[in-house]
Amino acid sequence: MKRIKKYIFVAGGVMSGIGKGIAVASIGRILKSYGFKVTAVKIDPYINIDAGTMNPIEHGEVFVTGDGDECDQDIGNYERFLDQDLTKVNYMTTGRVYLSVIEKERKLGYKGKCVEVVPHIPQEVIRRIEKARQAHKAEIVLIEIGGTVGEYQNLLFLEAARMLKIKYSNDVLFILVSHLPVPPMIGEMKTKPTQYAVRTLNSAGIQPDIILARSTRILDEPRKEKISTFCNLKKEDIISAPDVKSIYEIPVNFEKDNLGRKILRKLNLKKRNKDLKEWRKLVEIIKRSGKEKIEIGIVGKYFRSGKFVLKDSYISVIEAIKQASWANNLEPEITWVDSTDFEKDKSKLFSLSKLGGIVVPGGFGYRGIEGKILAIKYARENKIPFLGLCYGMQLATIELARDILKLKKANSTEIDSKTKYPVIDLIPSQKAILRKKKYGSTMRLGNWDCLIKPETLSYQAYLKANWRRIEKKSREGLLVKERHRHRYEFNNNFKNIFLENGLVIAGFNPQENLVEIIELKDHPFFVGVQFHPEFLSRPLSPHPLFLEFVKKSYQYTNNR
Ligand code: GLN
Repeated sequence: MKRIKKYIFVAGGVMSGIGKGIAVASIGRILKSYGFKVTAVKIDPYINIDAGTMNPIEHGEVFVTGDGDECDQDIGNYERFLDQDLTKVNYMTTGRVYLSVIEKERKLGYKGKCVEVVPHIPQEVIRRIEKARQAHKAEIVLIEIGGTVGEYQNLLFLEAARMLKIKYSNDVLFILVSHLPVPPMIGEMKTKPTQYAVRTLNSAGIQPDIILARSTRILDEPRKEKISTFCNLKKEDIISAPDVKSIYEIPVNFEKDNLGRKILRKLNLKKRNKDLKEWRKLVEIIKRSGKEKIEIGIVGKYFRSGKFVLKDSYISVIEAIKQASWANNLEPEITWVDSTDFEKDKSKLFSLSKLGGIVVPGGFGYRGIEGKILAIKYARENKIPFLGLCYGMQLATIELARDILKLKKANSTEIDSKTKYPVIDLIPSQKAILRKKKYGSTMRLGNWDCLIKPETLSYQAYLKANWRRIEKKSREGLLVKERHRHRYEFNNNFKNIFLENGLVIAGFNPQENLVEIIELKDHPFFVGVQFHPEFLSRPLSPHPLFLEFVKKSYQYTNNR
């Protein structure tokens, strides 16, 4: 049987942020449900080598793969929709592409030829796409080109797409995800920006095979007609993609328009089976969950950009809370709590009393941390379920040290390098790295073992959820792998005094003896984890710690 090798490029038109990543993830899910092996590649047009050093205001969350790549949040979307673990090969930046070409040139890899932007850069892009295809043994590779067509930055990626099309003309498909505005003063959906986007794509030598028309509303017949005429596409290849309540509805909605079948026909493929069953079930559960609500607060520092506040940097945390709520038949309501408010006015802490549970997510630096510590204290004293993620766990450690162990001004050396009680300190191996100013991709990243001790809240949570990633169950506990991204850790010099005061070390890394999970005994749910469980939470298998946290938050809400 001939091996199938197909490529679907997805580019964006008119503006960014219209859900290109979700569209790619949804198409991937559909094709997977037809029985094909699928993978997805994200192209970020930045010069940065990875997202680890990018500005979170401009770039949003840094997602971390199992093999420790710090990448764009769309990799998280792909993992959630495809329910597959992706790796370094699934993410490429302009920086990575150029670096490889330059390194190859230095090794005489081009055999003394003049190395030129075209064709050598697009060739390297294609090599990377092929590498991802092979690494995941994929039959269909979806490639998302970041940004919008017409940007100088992604021209070379479009060039790579065009070159691949010349080589494998029947195996390459182009999809344009475009935005159709409905300006309030006109009250009508406008197609002109999309027409320009298609023309721009045409000038790069590419004609889209399908257009996904993103808008607040459904695309009607007259506008379909217009796009068809002016953009040179059949009407049936223009798919309406209006806003929906939950992103997880999108694969189902696309299927109403037979998008999957249209793609297969164009790629000359026949579906092997059809099974969006599990996914449809999920969508039904989401729709039904409206009867009872659960209110969860995320205490963070928020990124302001002019008059706008951006929450994209917590996308995996938000999704993990939603998924766990739906699995508990609850509708999540997420409240944004700005920790700097508490620093200005402590009485504002009272606003936390209406919440069912409190999450303190990951973060860096000193801004807003005293407010977060106050919120953790409030959760502890008022027995509100609390989940601390990475920095959240470290700040919980500081709070306990200050308040229960009476170690005045205990701190993390990230915040106060001269603190008398450095309960959170640099991982020893990190010291040399920072001295050399090697900041890029040098944190403790990706999968690390965590041994979860029996008779702890976490142990119960992982068992109850029947977590599919438990690698070993023994008398010592459950062995799991969780994803990390940090330089600082619980300082083991303080371990004994913590234990003497009733703190539970529920999980640790056996190789390096690093604390991974802390808990409190006399509290319904007070759990801090050094890792990021949100990166492993998937709609079809929410993370055990989030499941248990939401459950306890619901109980707390009802017993209040
Ligand atoms: N700033 C902390 C550290 O580097 C926590 C990082 C995080 O929350 N991801 O260890």
